[in-house]
Amino acid sequence: MKRYGILIAIAALLLLAVGCATDEALPPPAAAPAPAVQTERADGVSVLMYHMIADIPGNDAVLREDLFREQMQYLHDNGYHPITLAQLEAYIDHDEPLPPKPVCITFDDGYPDTYSIVYPILKEYGFPWTLFMIGGMTDQPNRPTLAQLKEMRDNGVTIANHTWSHPELPYESEERQREEISRTQAWLKDELGIDNRYFAYPVGLYDDTVKQVLRENGITLAVTMNPGRVRPGDEMLEVKRIWIGDRVDLEHFADRLTHDHYRSL
Ligand SMILES: [Zn+2]
Repeated sequence: MKRYGILIAIAALLLLAVGCATDEALPPPAAAPAPAVQTERADGVSVLMYHMIADIPGNDAVLREDLFREQMQYLHDNGYHPITLAQLEAYIDHDEPLPPKPVCITFDDGYPDTYSIVYPILKEYGFPWTLFMIGGMTDQPNRPTLAQLKEMRDNGVTIANHTWSHPELPYESEERQREEISRTQAWLKDELGIDNRYFAYPVGLYDDTVKQVLRENGITLAVTMNPGRVRPGDEMLEVKRIWIGDRVDLEHFADRLTHDHYRSL
């Protein structure tokens, strides 16, 4: 009996070895590569909205670096899977399955810390994220340079349209709206080679005319500052986002990752 048991063990080991060898010998599938993690139907996604990472007490839109790192560590430790805007788009549009505990990370405007702090930290965690860049601010003092944007693009950061000069669009003429949106679309294409489909409304302001101009410019998804989590079938040009600033401690952060009606600050 003992010998029989040993034989079974040897057979199992052989099978394992063959299995491994077969996996290595097989070419990767011709279609889309298998996702790194198993996907499932998500029950809503929190799209996190950040601006600047710095230590400026009293400015709620600015988050301290140690607090930002603490939040990313929380996502990592609790099994969250940050997704790209393209994944978010497919999820809203046709309920595309997502990794477990999906979350979407977005930064607005483009500041020096976007490159010097945000980019290395998110690279360290391997989290995808999106920068909504004010096109006309590139290479301006205290703003990212074109070279930095290219480096981030090459390392998987989604760079998208946040107008040319950050006006409150509904208060501008339709002609000016068109100029602000199309100029940054052209800049993304010409300078960064990006066929962009994504947009963030400055100060979260929009109306039907702005949305029509976005459609004319090939924008398929636009994010707002309207609070709440995102689900399939949501209006694609009015995607909700969740405010993250200095007053969002870990308790609020966890609440905002999981609840549609999260507590106000
Ligand atoms: Zn902005």
